Amino acid sequence: MSDLVAEARPDTADTAPALDWEHAFAALGPAFHTELQPSPLPAPVLVSGNARLASELGLPEGWLHDERTVHQLTGNLVPEGSRPIATVYSGHQFGVWAGQLGDGRAILLGGLRTPAGVQEIQLKGSGLTPYSRMGDGRAVLRSSIREYLCSEAMHALGIPTTRALAVTSSPAPVRRETVETAAVVTRVAPSFIRFGHFEHFSARDQVAELRQLADFVIDRFYPACRESDRLEGDPYANLLEQVSERTAALVAQWQAAGFCHGVMNTDNMSILGQTIDYGPFQFLDAFVPGHICNHSDERGRYAYNRQPNVAYWNLFCLGQALLPIIGEQERALAALESYKTVFPAQLEARMRAKLGLTEAQPGDRELIEGVLQQLAAGAVDYPIFWRRLSRAVADDDFEPVRDLFPDRQGFDTWLRQYRQRLPSDRAAVAAGMLRTNPKWVLRNHLAELAIRSAREGDFAGVDTLLRLVQAPFEEHPEHEDLAGFPPDWASTLEISCSS
Ligand code: AMP
Ligand code: MG
Repeated sequence: MSDLVAEARPDTADTAPALDWEHAFAALGPAFHTELQPSPLPAPVLVSGNARLASELGLPEGWLHDERTVHQLTGNLVPEGSRPIATVYSGHQFGVWAGQLGDGRAILLGGLRTPAGVQEIQLKGSGLTPYSRMGDGRAVLRSSIREYLCSEAMHALGIPTTRALAVTSSPAPVRRETVETAAVVTRVAPSFIRFGHFEHFSARDQVAELRQLADFVIDRFYPACRESDRLEGDPYANLLEQVSERTAALVAQWQAAGFCHGVMNTDNMSILGQTIDYGPFQFLDAFVPGHICNHSDERGRYAYNRQPNVAYWNLFCLGQALLPIIGEQERALAALESYKTVFPAQLEARMRAKLGLTEAQPGDRELIEGVLQQLAAGAVDYPIFWRRLSRAVADDDFEPVRDLFPDRQGFDTWLRQYRQRLPSDRAAVAAGMLRTNPKWVLRNHLAELAIRSAREGDFAGVDTLLRLVQAPFEEHPEHEDLAGFPPDWASTLEISCSS
């Protein structure tokens, strides 16, 4: 096969596994998408392939490493039976209506029928689309590696997310602040529909398409909305309520994990309540509640501690978009109410689990707020605190935890309450905590180290990190050097929207 495949063309080789495609989203009709071909990239190589996900999808071993696969996952060959499209959506960016956006650099190959159900396969960075606006349709290697690793890290932590099957790269130059190189991430999800898809048709008064999209989402993903007698039996209000609840549960998980999304625009909110569109995300190192991970977010709209409110604001936009088919404003508002109870309840449950407390008791909220106050006051390293606390409970030696806090007295006061509250079977509690508080978190500097090597053509660091974040509760003593506090230079890393 030549290094540069001049034009993406259907792949008809007999050796390729028979991929079983369906095209339900495309069948919605031309108002929802544009058919197109991905634009080829020269000399693609596989940076990393996710064997675990490939196996979940029923793809044969070795498939990821096949040269033909590498071309398919770069957009140089279109698998037989695929029908590539880019979808149209709009959205609010940084609180302002941005109008039409759409898949500017993502191309949906279709839905693959797999042992894990129908999974849509999307190539991110595979060339211009009608929705590229001023962009080049490309993604750079650094941000593709970050998305790939973080999707799998989140999944292993049990946080709903789109998945990532592979990253391929090409020496083709891509201009950002400097000249970088192109890469493509293969993303996998049951659907990539965003709040912004609904906002798009609503803003244009295309009520028939709005209803068609809502029906599609209900039929495929929320069938119970049709049977529910809640909210006066209105399926669209029920959809809004279900999405509110899933989003509340998702953001509670983000907060508990110390995850900052960085760009919670409405076009980056999944209708399935999954984490989607990894850009300038960050897992907290020090616990700084007002931390802003996105260097482009000058006002801190998407700071860590604002995420819960922003999610509600985004749901409100979704509610407004659905109003033409819900009809009654009161009903839409009632559907959104669930967020206000589900979010705090979910957050409390997640934090309780981090503390090893399986059953709720009065006073838990104070205990949780107490530890977060101490962590914030000392800007204590968030992942290390939780992992050390888990070990301390097992050994009944809290000195290594205490060492993390500049205000020992304040911490001791909290610790006394916590030890009184701990169930007596410490070994069981500790085992639960060690399965809840990961040792391996995709910190910015770890991703950065893997990216620096990958830029030199050494992809081993990416594979190592993938293995660590895919088993985040295991010790992996051979990589202890990567498990410590972030180096000083980590705080100088600037991650922006540029990707
Ligand atoms: P994001 O901030 O990454 O969620 O992107 C917002 C919008 O800009 C989406 O419609 C993207 O498809 C589009 N976009 C981002 N980067 C590019 C690019 N390099 N080329 C084309 N479109 C892009
Ligand atoms: Mg986006």
